[in-house]
Amino acid sequence: MRLKSPARPTRRTAPPALAGDTAAPTPSAVRVYTATKRFDRSETDALSHVDLTVPAGSITVLLGPSGCGKTTLLRCIAGLETLTSGRIEIGDVDATDISAEDRGVAMAFQNYALYPNKSVLGNIEFPLRMRRVDRATRRERALRAAELMRLDGLLDRKPSELSGGQRQRVGIGRALVRDPAVLVMDEPFSNLDAALRDTMRAELVTLQRRLGMTVVFVTHDQVEALALADQLVVMRAGRIEQAGPPEDVYRTPATTFVATFLDGMNTFDAEGPFAAGSAPGAATVGCRTDHLRIGTGDGDDIDLRGQVLMAELRGRDRLVHLDIGGRRARMRVPADTRPDGEIALHVRRSDLHYFTADGVRCP
Ligand code: ATP
Repeated sequence: MRLKSPARPTRRTAPPALAGDTAAPTPSAVRVYTATKRFDRSETDALSHVDLTVPAGSITVLLGPSGCGKTTLLRCIAGLETLTSGRIEIGDVDATDISAEDRGVAMAFQNYALYPNKSVLGNIEFPLRMRRVDRATRRERALRAAELMRLDGLLDRKPSELSGGQRQRVGIGRALVRDPAVLVMDEPFSNLDAALRDTMRAELVTLQRRLGMTVVFVTHDQVEALALADQLVVMRAGRIEQAGPPEDVYRTPATTFVATFLDGMNTFDAEGPFAAGSAPGAATVGCRTDHLRIGTGDGDDIDLRGQVLMAELRGRDRLVHLDIGGRRARMRVPADTRPDGEIALHVRRSDLHYFTADGVRCP
């Protein structure tokens, strides 16, 4: 099963050029054609027939559970792994056999391994030193990258004298200093606390808009994925399960896997509590946690009864665990609502999602 909707133009408009951005990279699209990767001594494909277009100047997020192939796809794009078969184009160039150094792809990882004895500026300019860029140019570009990452006041500090977020910014500054056509990031914020992650995400989007960069970002966190993506790619077992604008993937999951992974959607056998509302041919009925509502419905709604098992506070919401006709379900209600015991529930027929026995969305 391989489902894919064509990539749409980015929803973010290109920002006006800023003074000082004159050396900004020209973003390149990345195109992956039927990419398959099987590691030596492995009996399964880590990537299997992956087709993907990453539009230039936008953020594509690869999302999926552990082991689904996100990092492998990222490393193949960066040139750190070679494909077993298939092709990768960066810009208009066939990059399949081009080395990592010559692809124009910069990388930022969870463990960004800064040089402990080098200053912030020394760390940022290091990739240019490796490429024997002359001193004046090196300095100018490193200062520009440091300014972009708001590290101007910290240039002489050593990594041990920085906070986690500042170290992360040095890692990204070092990736940007080469003016890459494409920036790939593998869970770059996963070592940071929740508040700092939010800040770093916002900074990344601001920077990406300002420079118009092409970014491929790996995460297994659906909140992060929805927050960042212009294009969201959900992967499963080495394949792309669904790709498209995040709003579309969230509202119209193509499979039960996407529905449950992205949103924790409730799913029931079509014969179960929602039998009355089932579409012909549906084997599974899905209902989002915020579409189950307390009380009796009207007109076309489907009425149910549920037993409250537990209610967890989730900030503004409360997640209520229910037993509906012997099946477990979850419902999201405002935090000030505290349902208890057996309650009446309803759901709009138009809010239900229908899937075939193969887990594919019914037309
Ligand atoms: P995670 O979120 O846990 O990092 P992932 O989605 O990034 O997971 P990958 O790291 O791409 O997953 O791994 C995909 C599959 O390839 C896994 O089954 C993994 O065990 C396998 N794999 C990855 N690297 C190698 C390697 N160097 N040699 C053999 N198998 C590998």
